[in-house]
Amino acid sequence: MIFKTLKSYFGYTSFRPLQEEIVRRILDRKDALVLMPTGGGKSICYQLPALLMEGTAIVVSPLISLMKDQVESLQNNGIIARALNSSCDETTHASIRFECRQGRVKLLYISPERLLAEVNYLLKDIRISLFAIDEAHCISQWGHDFRPEYTQLSVLRQQFPDVPIVALTATADKITREDILRQLHLRDPEIFISSFDRPNLSLDVRRGYQQKEKLRTLFDFIDRHRGESGIVYCMSRSKTESVAEKLEQQGIRTAVYHAGLSSQQRDQAQDDFINDRVQVVCATIAFGMGIDKSNVRWVVHYNLPKSIESYYQEIGRAGRDGLPSDTLLFYSFGDILLLSKFAQESNQQEINLEKLHRMQQYAEADICRRRILLNYFGETTDHNCGNCDVCKNPPRRFDGTVIVQKALSGIARTGEQVGTHTLIDLLRGAVSQEVIEKGYDKLKTYGAGRDIPGRDWQDYLLQMLNLGYVEIAYNENNWLKITTAGKKVLFGQERAELVTIQRTEPARKAAAKKKGLPARPTVEPVLSPVFFDNEDPELFEALRLLCKRLADQQAIPAYLVLSDKTLHQLAAVRPTTLEAFGEIGGIGEYKKGKYGKEFLEVIRQRMGEKEGVSK
Ligand code: ADP
Ligand code: ZN
Repeated sequence: MIFKTLKSYFGYTSFRPLQEEIVRRILDRKDALVLMPTGGGKSICYQLPALLMEGTAIVVSPLISLMKDQVESLQNNGIIARALNSSCDETTHASIRFECRQGRVKLLYISPERLLAEVNYLLKDIRISLFAIDEAHCISQWGHDFRPEYTQLSVLRQQFPDVPIVALTATADKITREDILRQLHLRDPEIFISSFDRPNLSLDVRRGYQQKEKLRTLFDFIDRHRGESGIVYCMSRSKTESVAEKLEQQGIRTAVYHAGLSSQQRDQAQDDFINDRVQVVCATIAFGMGIDKSNVRWVVHYNLPKSIESYYQEIGRAGRDGLPSDTLLFYSFGDILLLSKFAQESNQQEINLEKLHRMQQYAEADICRRRILLNYFGETTDHNCGNCDVCKNPPRRFDGTVIVQKALSGIARTGEQVGTHTLIDLLRGAVSQEVIEKGYDKLKTYGAGRDIPGRDWQDYLLQMLNLGYVEIAYNENNWLKITTAGKKVLFGQERAELVTIQRTEPARKAAAKKKGLPARPTVEPVLSPVFFDNEDPELFEALRLLCKRLADQQAIPAYLVLSDKTLHQLAAVRPTTLEAFGEIGGIGEYKKGKYGKEFLEVIRQRMGEKEGVSK
């Protein structure tokens, strides 16, 4: 029965890890806490039992946009779902309550405020199959998504002792977990912790890039993801705006999202992104929860995030559909200066500095990055992932003693009163204002590092910081100070190993240079990459267009009609009968009936064209 319902409503033939156990637990009317990474497949865990049990499942959700997405997605699978929140008018409210009382609604999404208001009214009038508390970490005061109303949800256990409660979250830390268990009064709960590994996300870190190079790398990265949705996370509001402007200049449709915008502007940006009216969102960390878009194909961190938790949650927004997706992190000296400052000024100074330190170690790693991430979340693995930059291109080291000595000697000769910027000018023998004013051009080290480009000096200095040869005096203009370990290298008692800088020149540019062609051809076919054997990329494009048209007709996002993964599979399998169409992953009975004919039409037409060509 379980499997039949899974296929007929959701179109899947198998469960992801733990889903089946969780479903069975709820069907046994027992409580559960589910910890799964973003994109792990939490929704099915309560949606499937909701379909198999009598009555209405009550789903508590903190954001209107999340509810909207879930309800639309369920309705698109032929399931009766509704949402009660502050966005509904009186009439809608009344009609939803009526439908609920009639017992027609299988899943009712509700905001915590609304839920508390209805505990003694609507909820008492209907038969409730289960309670699902989505984004359950909102209950914890220590987290960044704290919602005071969530702390009152204990009322559910008191008022409905026999209804099973399942709490779900992607936040895995212990404090949050305990907060959830305690505050919801879960009864003899089973805790399901799934692996936090997301093997479909590639991991890549670029160190010490300056503005221009960063932008160029970003353009090239997006170029390789033509037409594919992605997010650029930036540290500041102004940065989101300046990067967005640069992307727009390149002809990339981009929205901006940060807490300084009005809620209307933010909703608009989010809506444009979800409905593919823009390809990219440049955002601060304010953007994310509430984005269930399954076909975000890439995430770039334009600046270093403040912790591994933030980083992992943010990259997790890519590739929810399970298809390969790319992530890229830029990491610079300036980021560390700013983030350290923020951490020091925060009221949890020690914790925040430690978190930043762990983030830095990740960015600096010379072992498989995924192992570091999983280890951070308490999972150990015994193999390298093969899908991070370290695995693909292991760092090579060389004897960098002379380089380190030059830098340290420069610092020493200024009386340790120099920041990275001026130090690089000094080493390169540049004629900058500060250099001249302070008379650094008279020092012995002036110009001693001329042979090394400024951007490489950035990289080496960052390495020196991480190797503990220098530290930053945050309370003294961010001047560089030589540590004891640094002195040993400076005075020749110890050698220093540095990592060779490997810069990959953007492929297109390099190729273009060779042939003397312009770097950015104006017209180029926009074809998505191929994900499955035998996939026909042109057919995929045709299917994607149809999908978009069907979505626009219903005013819903395209990925809710069919996910990109399903479209890619269709383009590979090319079914020609309705039955074969329904066998594809992600296509349940409802979608088969509603969309089958039109998709088959496009497939047949494309096959006809191809035959015509081969004849
Ligand atoms: P989460 O809420 O944990 O972030 P979702 O519930 O939104 O994740 O699921 C992420 C994606 O995985 C969705 O596109 C969903 O349709 C898909 N998915 C979930 N369960 C399965 C399954 N058993 N087989 C295939 N795809 C699945
Ligand atoms: Zn790896």
